[in-house]
Amino acid sequence: MKYQPTIGLEVHAELKTRTKMFCDSLNDPEEKHPNTNVCPICTGHPGTLPTINKKAVEYVLKVGMAVNGDIPQFSKFDRKNYFYPDLPKGYQISQYDLPLIFGGNLNGIRIRRVHLEEDTGRLIHESHIAHPESQKNDTRHTIHDASFVDYNRAGVPLMELVTEPDITSAEQAAAFAKELQMILRYLGVSDADMEKGQMRVEANISLNMGTKVEVKNINSFKAAEGAIKYELKRQEEVLESGGKITQETRGWDDAHNRTVSQRIKEDAHDYRYFPEPDLPPLDLAHFDLKQLKLEIPELPLAKRQRFVKEYNLTPEMAELLVTDRKMGEFFEEAASELAADDSKNIGEKTKLLVNYLTSDLAGLLMAKETSLEEIKIDPENFADLIELIATGKINSRVAKDVLAKMFETGLDPNAIVQEGGLTQVSDEGALVEVAKKIIAANPNAIADYKKGKENAIMFLVGKCMAELKGRGNPELLRKVIKENIV
Ligand code: ADP
Ligand code: MG
Repeated sequence: MKYQPTIGLEVHAELKTRTKMFCDSLNDPEEKHPNTNVCPICTGHPGTLPTINKKAVEYVLKVGMAVNGDIPQFSKFDRKNYFYPDLPKGYQISQYDLPLIFGGNLNGIRIRRVHLEEDTGRLIHESHIAHPESQKNDTRHTIHDASFVDYNRAGVPLMELVTEPDITSAEQAAAFAKELQMILRYLGVSDADMEKGQMRVEANISLNMGTKVEVKNINSFKAAEGAIKYELKRQEEVLESGGKITQETRGWDDAHNRTVSQRIKEDAHDYRYFPEPDLPPLDLAHFDLKQLKLEIPELPLAKRQRFVKEYNLTPEMAELLVTDRKMGEFFEEAASELAADDSKNIGEKTKLLVNYLTSDLAGLLMAKETSLEEIKIDPENFADLIELIATGKINSRVAKDVLAKMFETGLDPNAIVQEGGLTQVSDEGALVEVAKKIIAANPNAIADYKKGKENAIMFLVGKCMAELKGRGNPELLRKVIKENIV
């Protein structure tokens, strides 16, 4: 592309406080029944007064610390006026010129500001809604093309983070959003699930720092990448054909993989921002910043580096464990149980542990639709399983069965192996005996082998394995079979 892409992001995240931003209605994203968690304050009744949710402010301060932003002495809330049915007061309490956080940096991208505001209600557009009491096919009470408003989300604390236009590609934008999501989760301030609308990304896109277009309605990382790629291409084509970019807001149309014009963008003055008269300015000296700092856990960047260094993991392995924080914690606990004094070196065991965690156990969690917190296996038992495998006491095939049993019962793998008589048979004498028997019983396979079919050995190993109830040492069996074919 002969033009330089310039991208800036605005990311909103719903904070997971117990109550809403300015009232004590519950902040419960799981609430399915509309207009349950509402009160006169968050539904904008005249004469009501808001109160600032301290926790929400603390959450944003933590995010600011995590991205190395500056916390000012004072901050304040402002009214952003606009009319839309999802906004019961006719204005949104937001922050204009004195946000909670100024500056910062994430993934090498400068952050302009982070502020706090309130979320809007949710509009549900439906057509042909039957009255609950009407019978099937009874059209008398059917409402056509109606919109409903659910105020459960109105007034939920919403953080907005704005970057400088430092991003130069769709991939970089998605990586930034992913890293931010991870940080929000590590800090425990938001679940930040894009598919659930808990984290929303808007992308400002221009070529050569020219007129920018804002793209909204991005509901996944994939959509973020797709929308930006599409928009860069569209703008390039407009410029190439001698046209001009219109400053506008476009929406990402996931179904058709394109952006569509929504409205010509409004300027800040259209919102007639003014200081919120119902709230006092925020003196941030009232917040225990030292304590908040202490509550920040090790963040993904530091953890990645530590995992690679401390456990000798590949960057890919470390990434898996950092992305899934619970998995990372489980890993560290299990790793600390691995015996360092064994014949196998600890590095190999640790890699074995990561593999069993991120493929076998993760597979089971997926299949059974459960999570690490809910299962019966503890890290200590998992480490014992790895010891059994690493020291050759069980083979990898039996390991799968033992893991499944641990998953079901929470039993100690040593007990499972002992009770089931599952110890790997590595005694050469015993293996030779089985091999001879199988060789004698399978003349066709032997003939194939002699004709050069290596596969025949696999078949014979399988037969021996069945005889040994899956407990044979596969490498030894292979060797012994070859040696005993005459
Ligand atoms: P507005 O006043 O239209 O909201 P801002 O200057 O406040 O615009 O910036 C909003 C977002 O747009 C920020 O994330 C910023 O980085 C980004 N942005 C600003 N200028 C450009 C540009 N020329 N191209 C792409 N993004 C831009
Ligand atoms: Mg905004």
